[in-house]
Amino acid sequence: ALTLGIVGLPNVGKSTLFNALTQNDALAANYPFATIEPNVGVVALPDPRLDVLAGISSSEKVVPATVSFVDIAGIVKGASEGEGLGNKFLANIREADAICQVVRVFADPDVVHVDGRVDPASDIETVATELVLADLQTLERAVPRLEKEVKGRKTDPAVLAAAQGAVAVLERGTALSSGAQDAGVDVGLLRDLTLLTTKPFVYVFNTDEAGLADTARRAELEELVAPASSVFLDAAVEAELVELDPEDAAELLASTGQSESGLDQLARAGFETLGLQTYLTTGPKESRAWTIRRGATAPQAAGVIHTDFQRGFIKAEVVSYADLVDAGSHAEAKARGRVRVEGKEYVMADGDVVEFRFNV
Ligand code: GDP
Repeated sequence: ALTLGIVGLPNVGKSTLFNALTQNDALAANYPFATIEPNVGVVALPDPRLDVLAGISSSEKVVPATVSFVDIAGIVKGASEGEGLGNKFLANIREADAICQVVRVFADPDVVHVDGRVDPASDIETVATELVLADLQTLERAVPRLEKEVKGRKTDPAVLAAAQGAVAVLERGTALSSGAQDAGVDVGLLRDLTLLTTKPFVYVFNTDEAGLADTARRAELEELVAPASSVFLDAAVEAELVELDPEDAAELLASTGQSESGLDQLARAGFETLGLQTYLTTGPKESRAWTIRRGATAPQAAGVIHTDFQRGFIKAEVVSYADLVDAGSHAEAKARGRVRVEGKEYVMADGDVVEFRFNV
């Protein structure tokens, strides 16, 4: 599964947020891995379409798509010096597909800030700098090795050139995700090095009730990290919300002036950042959202359900969610000519409702 790794300075609310993610028991039944792996938290991607489909098909249950988060560790200033960020930390963060940085905005005098004051811009800078330094260390080790390999004709010189170009970008203090393309550096050639600053970022601003309502401040912080996405939440409230039944949770949310929980917003932002979309299946057993990469073809989409479906793919019967709801039933949608037959080349659209035909 694709995952976002949670990072941040100490005492910013990472554990509090992560506890909310793991105590999200509503999901545990459908996603047993969520309870098996202690450092993985799972959130459902809210999708009101599933309930509508379940109504049409009289489904026994709905199964939403999910986003996984891995609790990585705190980063402190200077972490990349001396011992480095630590092997375990690096291994965990390298495996993540995107990085989710929790940034403290809440001002609680009882909770100590490592640098003595709450300053989101400076915290963001600290973490960004440590990741840049970690990548520089990786490249400093890799470049001499690549030079040798190029001499021995074991590696394409373009890979070495990309590594040297990446060093130049990082030495300016710029993350590869924002600086490599303009500098003409093809980081795709450096995939084996799993450089940290090539990963997409989501920022979680952990704030309090007053902070959630402060739209001017929020706009400022959003701008600070754009084009990366930002989510504003109160980790302490999120931890409470997951313990409540849906009605009480809705009431608590409303009392903080929010229409959607922070975890729901985080699921959406994570999904976007990972470049994912969903397609839907529906029947008496379940109405379900399946996760695919944007641009996935019909056979690739079928493979998410079962690898046999991809191998034996014949065709997909596709109706758009809107057309299906409009028709009121699959049979009526078919009668209206709204159910298309698509082949191997078909690129899936978000909200396609699909039935696959395949050989086994
Ligand atoms: P971590 O070191 O980043 O994992 O931070 P923790 O989640 O352990 O939080 C550090 C302290 O801040 C704990 O005492 C939390 O209860 C408190 N805390 C976390 N989030 C909030 C918040 O949104 N508001 C307030 N006032 N305190 C919080």
